Amino acid sequence: MTGTVYLVGSGPGDPELLTVKARRLLDEADVVLHDKLPGPEILGEIPEEKREDVGKRAGGERTPQSEINARMVELAEAGDDVVRLKGGDPFVFGRGGEELAYLAERGVPFEVVPGITSAVAAPAAADIPVTHRDHASSVSFVTGHEDPSKDESAVDWQALADTGGTIVVLMGVGKLPEYTRALLDAGMDPSTPVALVEKGTRPGQRVATGTLETIVDARDEAGIEPPAVTVVGDVAGVREDLR
Ligand code: SAH
Repeated sequence: MTGTVYLVGSGPGDPELLTVKARRLLDEADVVLHDKLPGPEILGEIPEEKREDVGKRAGGERTPQSEINARMVELAEAGDDVVRLKGGDPFVFGRGGEELAYLAERGVPFEVVPGITSAVAAPAAADIPVTHRDHASSVSFVTGHEDPSKDESAVDWQALADTGGTIVVLMGVGKLPEYTRALLDAGMDPSTPVALVEKGTRPGQRVATGTLETIVDARDEAGIEPPAVTVVGDVAGVREDLR
């Protein structure tokens, strides 16, 4: 009988922030396909013999999505119940949608198990509320991976600046100089608070704070590295007020 593929969000990294359902499925699964993002604390709890790393290949480059898709189907068709474990929530910048479409096309039974996204949890772990009655009535989740200078940038930084709510940037450590510049060029106040939260909820959690003008220096000084989220907006200053 064909197995089921469970597309499971692992949350931001603290094993206690796995859902009860994710925990049960990890126990019951025959195979767990994962990359590095769930983090060593969670991955370390999964028996080695049922873990399969589909993140980076030996050479260090990323496993092609087509290969991961094919592996999920291969295992399910051999009768295995598969957990495809994704950091945070599987549908927030996780390619979950693409994997689901592939499974559906091939008639493989699947179920999606939401996870706590780092877009909300990493700020929360640093005492930053992404919305706040006095500071922000909307929040946008955007990728920082795109080059803001290229003409066809998928992220409309001008529109985000105009909206005035909280902006949470994922995958945004490397291109921080480019998109903070884009937001300044779009007319945002240079003194807008910005916070970087690295390894949110995990033992190595670190936070760097500043403004649109100073955050690049703060990043370099602290040596902030991925995975980290960038929070842009007045809510990023609430943390300082609490202190
Ligand atoms: N599906 C994931 C996001 C995948 S994109 C989710 O919902 O959280 C990968 C990005 O997620 C990283 O570049 C980083 O911006 C963010 N991220 C994941 N875990 C994180 C953590 N514990 N702390 C800070 N950022 C994290």
